[in-house]
Amino acid sequence: MIHDNSQSHHNHNQCIKTALATAETLCTEQGQRLTKVRRRALELIWESHRPLGAYQLLAKLAEEGFNSAPPTVYRALDFLLNAGLIHKVESMNAYLGCAHADKAHKGYFLICDQCHNVMEFDYQDIHASLIEKAAQQGFELRSETIELIGLCASCQSAAASAGASA
Ligand SMILES: [Zn+2]
Ligand SMILES: [Zn+2]
Ligand SMILES: [Zn+2]
Repeated sequence: MIHDNSQSHHNHNQCIKTALATAETLCTEQGQRLTKVRRRALELIWESHRPLGAYQLLAKLAEEGFNSAPPTVYRALDFLLNAGLIHKVESMNAYLGCAHADKAHKGYFLICDQCHNVMEFDYQDIHASLIEKAAQQGFELRSETIELIGLCASCQSAAASAGASA
C-alpha cells in the first residue's frame, strides 16, 4: 500500500492539511499559481475520500460565490489533474485527491461500492506486467484504467459487527 487510509478511523483534517501544503510546494516548484479557485476546488475534492463529480464541485463553488461557470471549473480541474494533485476515477466520472502527488505515479484504485471511498494501491508489478503482455501482442500501452470494485475494510468490519449483534 502506498497510502493506508483506514477510512473511518483517521484524522482527515491532517489529510487535507498535508494535501494543501503539498499543493503549495509543488505549484511553487513548478512556477504555477495555486489561485483561489484552484485551491478551493482542491479543498472541496479533499473533503472526503469519496470522489467528487464536476457538477457537485460546480454547485459548491457557486454556493460560495466563486465564478463557477463550467469553463472556469473545468480549467481548475485540468490544472489540478496536470499537476498530479487529483486523479479522475473514470468509472465514477469523479475526482479524487491524491495523497502522494509529489511522486509520479498512475492512479490504480480500490473502490468500495458501499461507502464509495476510494483508495489508491501500489501497482508497480501490475503495471510492468501489463506493459509486457501488451508488448507481446505488439501493442504499445499508452494508458490504463485499473479500478477494482469491492468492500473496504471498515465496511467489512461494520457488516461483521452488525451481523454479530443481530
Ligand atoms: Zn483522510
Ligand atoms: Zn495518486
Ligand atoms: Zn466502504
